[in-house]
Amino acid sequence: MKSLTLKAPAKVNYVLDVIRRRPDGYHDLRMVMQRVNLCDEITISLTDTPDITVTCGKNGVPDGPGNIAWKAARILLDMAGTGQGAEITIAKNIPVAAGLGGGSSDAASVLMGMNELLGLGMSDQRLMEIGVKLGADVPFFVFKKTALAEGIGEQLSAMPDMPTTWVLLVNPGVHVSTGWVYRNLQLTNRDELAKLPYFYGTIEDICSILSNDLESVTIPAFPVIAEIKATMMRSGALGAMMSGSGPTVFGLFPDRSTAEQAREELVKGTCWFAVVVETI
Ligand code: ATP
Repeated sequence: MKSLTLKAPAKVNYVLDVIRRRPDGYHDLRMVMQRVNLCDEITISLTDTPDITVTCGKNGVPDGPGNIAWKAARILLDMAGTGQGAEITIAKNIPVAAGLGGGSSDAASVLMGMNELLGLGMSDQRLMEIGVKLGADVPFFVFKKTALAEGIGEQLSAMPDMPTTWVLLVNPGVHVSTGWVYRNLQLTNRDELAKLPYFYGTIEDICSILSNDLESVTIPAFPVIAEIKATMMRSGALGAMMSGSGPTVFGLFPDRSTAEQAREELVKGTCWFAVVVETI
C-alpha cells in the first residue's frame, strides 16, 4: 500500500486587519501569517477500494466526510479518477477551534500528499486554487512561507525574511465561534492602512506590527485573553497578541528559557494548553 506521513504545522497571525465586509458574506482581510513548529501528523495510505476513511479520535473533530482532510482527499481522488480510496490518520497536536489553523493545515497537507501519492504533478498554485474552496487559510499552508495574505486570505505574497523566534502559545480553552466573532465585529473606517515595513532584523521589528482587529470582539467577552497577554508581557514577552479569531494567545520571546518560565507562570493552577514553539 503506497503511503506517506506529513507534518501539518499550526500558524499564528502577526497581523489580522479586517478591511471590509463583502456582499458574499466573507470579509476582505490583510493578514501576516507565520507558521510554527506545533504540528499535526498525517498519514495517508492509498487503497484499492474507493472509500475514504479519516481517523482522528479527538473530541470535536469529525472522523468522516465532515473532516476537512476527507474533503481534500475526495477532490484529488476524483481528479485522479483511478477508483482508488484512502485511509487517513490524523495525530492531532494542534488545539481545535483555537485560531491556530489546524484544520486548514491538515487539508493542505492532504492536498500535497495526495498530489504526490497519485502522481498528479499539480503545481502549488493549482493546489492553492483547490484549497481556497475548502477554507480561506488552506492556500497559506500550501504556500509554506511567512506571508502577507489579502482578499479572503487567498492572495498570498512572501514577507521579507524574519528572524526565527521563540513563541509561547496559550489556549485557555474557552469556546469562541469564528462566525460569532465576525458577526459582532464593528468595522472601523479604513481609508488608510499603515504600511508594513519591508525589513525585519529583530523580534522587536516583528512586534511593531502585531495587531488583530478581532480582539475588539473577543476580549470584552473573554477578559482572560487580555489577562494572558498582560501576564506574558510581565514575564518577558516582547509582544503578545491573540491569533485568528482566538482564543489562543501567542507571545514572542527573546529566548527559550524566558518563554518556558512564562509558560510555567501562566499554567499554574489551570488546565490550559500551553507550549513553547519556534517559528518555521
Ligand atoms: P482558523 O484559525 O483557520 O480559524 P481554527 O484553528 O480556529 O481555524 P480548526 O481547528 O481548524 O479551527 O477547526 C474548526 C472546526 O473545523 C472544528 O470545530 C472542527 O469541528 C472542524 N474540523 C473539520 N476537520 C478538522 C480537522 N482536520 N482538524 C480540526 N478541526 C476540524
